[in-house]
Amino acid sequence: MSKKQAICPGSFDPITFGHMDIISRGANVFDEVIIVVANNESKDSLFTVKERMDLISKATKDIPNVKIDACNGLLIDYVRTTGAKVILRGLRAVSDFEYEMQITSINRKLDESVETFFVMTNNQYSFLSSSIVKEVAKYHSPVSDLVPPVVEAALKEKFSK
Ligand code: ADP
Repeated sequence: MSKKQAICPGSFDPITFGHMDIISRGANVFDEVIIVVANNESKDSLFTVKERMDLISKATKDIPNVKIDACNGLLIDYVRTTGAKVILRGLRAVSDFEYEMQITSINRKLDESVETFFVMTNNQYSFLSSSIVKEVAKYHSPVSDLVPPVVEAALKEKFSK
């Protein structure tokens, strides 16, 4: 039987405990979760794609069935190259719903055979986003409850310059 893979796409700028919650829930259900860092040029990012992949790799080192990759173009084209049939996304609050519905609809239009699965995050992370983390870290406030230690160290380094 072929492996059930799920593609977990996002900016991950940087990875937070919210992302990790979704990834580990996904890893409990699917044979393999491929975390895909989207190289979205219209978004200003703090970390390069390579830095983001490196942080994800360190943060998820204890989850054996996780792989990390990057994607430049349309996500659905990337998904097709892997042969995976599932996109995994997280939902925090109602505010995520409209945006997620838009992307899911367009992805479905582009490829009917790929299904998007949503996982609801643990309540304690429903306010958490990479943007909030960057805002807090920028003013040198502690982010140890929000991101793994490697990410905290990388943020410190970025904002010390
Ligand atoms: P994007 O720019 O594609 O929204 P993000 O890195 O912000 O990328 O998010 C990637 C995925 O992780 C999305 O499905 C998003 O809803 C989910 N996510 C982000 N933060 C959290 C969180 N705190 N709890 C649950 N899911 C989250």
